[in-house]
Amino acid sequence: MSQFETVIGLEVHLQLSTATKIFCGCANRYGCGPNTNVCPVCLGLPGSLPVLNSQAMRYAITASLALNARINGFVKFDRKNYYYPDLPKGYQISQYDFPIASDGYLEVKTKDTSARVRIKRAHLEEDAGKLMHDNAAGCSLVDYNRTGTPLLEIVTEPDIRSPQEAYDYLNTLKLNLQYLGISDCDMEKGSLRCDANVSIRPIGATAFGTKAELKNMNSFKAVKAALEYEVTRHRQMAISGGRIVQETLLWDDIKGVTVPMRSKEEAHDYRYFPDPDLVPFTLDPAFVDSLRAELPELPLQKQERFKEQYGLNDYDSFILISDRSISEFFEQCALLYQNPKNIANWISGPLLKEINQRKCVLTDLKLTSENFVNLIKSVDNGVVSNLVGKDVLTAMLDQGRSADVIIQEGGWAQVSDDSALTVIVDEVIAQNPSVAAQIKEGKANAVGFLVGQVMKKSKGKANPKKLSELITRRISNG
Ligand SMILES: [Zn+2]
Repeated sequence: MSQFETVIGLEVHLQLSTATKIFCGCANRYGCGPNTNVCPVCLGLPGSLPVLNSQAMRYAITASLALNARINGFVKFDRKNYYYPDLPKGYQISQYDFPIASDGYLEVKTKDTSARVRIKRAHLEEDAGKLMHDNAAGCSLVDYNRTGTPLLEIVTEPDIRSPQEAYDYLNTLKLNLQYLGISDCDMEKGSLRCDANVSIRPIGATAFGTKAELKNMNSFKAVKAALEYEVTRHRQMAISGGRIVQETLLWDDIKGVTVPMRSKEEAHDYRYFPDPDLVPFTLDPAFVDSLRAELPELPLQKQERFKEQYGLNDYDSFILISDRSISEFFEQCALLYQNPKNIANWISGPLLKEINQRKCVLTDLKLTSENFVNLIKSVDNGVVSNLVGKDVLTAMLDQGRSADVIIQEGGWAQVSDDSALTVIVDEVIAQNPSVAAQIKEGKANAVGFLVGQVMKKSKGKANPKKLSELITRRISNG
């Protein structure tokens, strides 16, 4: 089975989060009542004229620069003609022969792999409306709110060699785009959509095999699953001597299979014409340079800086930069408490665990850096044990209150006071005479057992360091 190589290319459609649509002044907002954000331009009424939104242009250039692409100075829009009810004009405004950017790349780095995926092109276009089929009523409804939403289409070269690599590329791309703040990248809202091309070829061959086009995948996991399904299908077909036909397939996430798109839907015969309403123009290189100068720090740059500035290792810094808000939270904490390694540990361990369990994002937690740092200090100063500290964090997030208040009100502070501990220690020694005898004979490692017993009785509140001293002293004196 391993004599074949997998070849994958991806097309991502990204909705840019501009305030208004790409060619008119309608609000670019998700979740409004049907057909409430529409005007003659986005409805394609006769006589209406599109005007390019400069913010959409800026975002597209910013994204392209972050993808190390060449910005093409000549800007031209074309009409991609096809008739479909979600597209009232009968054509979609897109860019055909002069995309805004070409020849870029994205470094795809995961915990243990690294690859460079080349970006073939990135172009601007408008989104179409949304059809809803009401089978019961026997009719279809259309919502034109989405028409004219600015999209950036990012197309890779066929450089991706496995479904896992496709998955890693998408995550890395999304992370970079989130750092740029130009899209919410929310796949559930359709802000980020992905189509894939996949084929196989004998290892060593340079010609491409016949490809399948995959559509309708609504999560990165679905992209990976659909690609895995197709790679297996292609290999089985090749081994059994069958022939792959080029076709467009839809992914059925529930059944976990691909199904051919009906040929009617597939029969695209796009004709492109330059759009006469949008006059081509050239970009001022100084404008592009100014956007280049304004590029924010990107994930990989931030990771390098975290390693250098805070002395973090590869793994810790990678975890921290994997989410922009978490990386910013880390830096806020590091300003308040000069112990970056401990902060990194508390974020990548207990905090991320809470976030995963609650299926939320950091900003939902209403956790301030001050409170989080106070918790870490309480543990570092021995006020609570590491174990209790994790419970305090859970309580902080449940109750939205500070670490200090929770520790105080809950009586969770570590008991370091000798007299209070002595009572429990004596109890445990009395209950475990044979262990006590061993310790008296000099078996120092038996102390651990008694420490554990006292910890249990004190519900984790005893200070373990203090305890082993105390136990040894009580036994040798007793
Ligand atoms: Zn409009």
